[in-house]
Amino acid sequence: MRSAVPTIGFVSLGCPKNLVDSERLLTQLRAEGYDLSPSYGGADLVVVNTCGFIDAAVEESLDAIGEALDANGRVIVTGCLGARADEIRAAHPGVLAVTGAHDYEAVMSAVHAHLPAPHDPFTSLIPPPGIKLTPPHYAYLKISEGCNHRCSFCIIPSLRGDLVSRPVGEVLAEAERLVESGVRELLVVSQDTSAYGVDLKYRTDFFDGRPLPTRLTTLAQELGRLPAWTRLHYVYPYPHVDELLPLMADGIILPYLDMPLQHGSQRVLKAMRRPAATEKVLTRIAHWRETCPELVLRSTFIVGFPGETEDDFDRLLEFIQQAQLDRVGCFAYSAVDGAAANALPDPVPEAVKQDRLQRFMEIQAEISRNKLALQVGRQMIVLIDEVHDDRIVARGPGDAPEVDGVVVIDGGWDDVGPGDFIDVRVTGYDDHDLFAEPV
Ligand code: SF4
Repeated sequence: MRSAVPTIGFVSLGCPKNLVDSERLLTQLRAEGYDLSPSYGGADLVVVNTCGFIDAAVEESLDAIGEALDANGRVIVTGCLGARADEIRAAHPGVLAVTGAHDYEAVMSAVHAHLPAPHDPFTSLIPPPGIKLTPPHYAYLKISEGCNHRCSFCIIPSLRGDLVSRPVGEVLAEAERLVESGVRELLVVSQDTSAYGVDLKYRTDFFDGRPLPTRLTTLAQELGRLPAWTRLHYVYPYPHVDELLPLMADGIILPYLDMPLQHGSQRVLKAMRRPAATEKVLTRIAHWRETCPELVLRSTFIVGFPGETEDDFDRLLEFIQQAQLDRVGCFAYSAVDGAAANALPDPVPEAVKQDRLQRFMEIQAEISRNKLALQVGRQMIVLIDEVHDDRIVARGPGDAPEVDGVVVIDGGWDDVGPGDFIDVRVTGYDDHDLFAEPV
């Protein structure tokens, strides 16, 4: 008779690398409270960790899957042969799931889906997506840590080191878990989202048994398959960002780019050690808007950087007037302990910084207002954040939580809640927010 504790049978084939993967999986299974069974008969399901190195190993793996299916009937396949999911399913259509090698998250998700972990009064207090500090309907998805740039005002690389990307399968498994737990908007974050995968040389990883390169366009495409919005933050204008615009135009990811540009003067950008040429950025933006007219661009800027002259500042104002960005944050430069910029000559007096900040914000406020005015009369889908007695507070595709505006819809509602999508028509605007009515 099978025990009350969920029990897993485990078959490990192939080389020592595969054995290490098996050890890691077994450790995780035990940590979650699963029992292990030395026989197929005593298990609730069987995981077969396969090898696909040579033909004989493929044969052996397929035989082992068949044997486990005959003896137990409930089989999850992982390991190297997992990359050839079609071949496995052709030979054994009855397998529950197939995932690729090293794809711990996907194997564990498959196990959880087919054999839930036992209740533990301590760990069961932690919801499946882990502890989140955001409301249940949106979540930040961190795709990498660290940064390869050395901007002179920033100490992040010295605190967090160079770029380390998470393999695409791991990120997608987390995204899937979040969406399954009720998240309706994924906010992709990192220090440098465009550089995702560079450190891994875009190495192939597996998700759902499919081989995928660890690169931003692929990640965006795959996230776009989930029933949730995908919004990209901290995207620098590298050439391959162009590939994202058709995905936005086709509604696969939100037509939104958060692109911290920091300045509009080449001289200041050089002192900041930022890799960018403003004219090129303007040409790119024009091209992006041709591909995806709905594109909403958010950016941040610094005024009063050491050595910034009145002429540099004029160039910045010229730049924001030409770029016509939708959402903009601006900060007066302040020194950070340990930043290289502290050693630069010609600091800008505080009063001048504040004056420039104000002039910048006045010009940008008018640009933003004009942009919002263009929305009046448009119909859009919004995601509800809050429901009050007399109004709903929601966000449209152009509004990231916490940093952008909101869409306010008047009237009492009974049958909707946070995390629901509704159709609205925009009726008005103020400096930051839109007002709308239900359609
Ligand atoms: S500002 Fe951003 S891109 Fe520059 S070094 Fe810091 S984290 Fe990297």
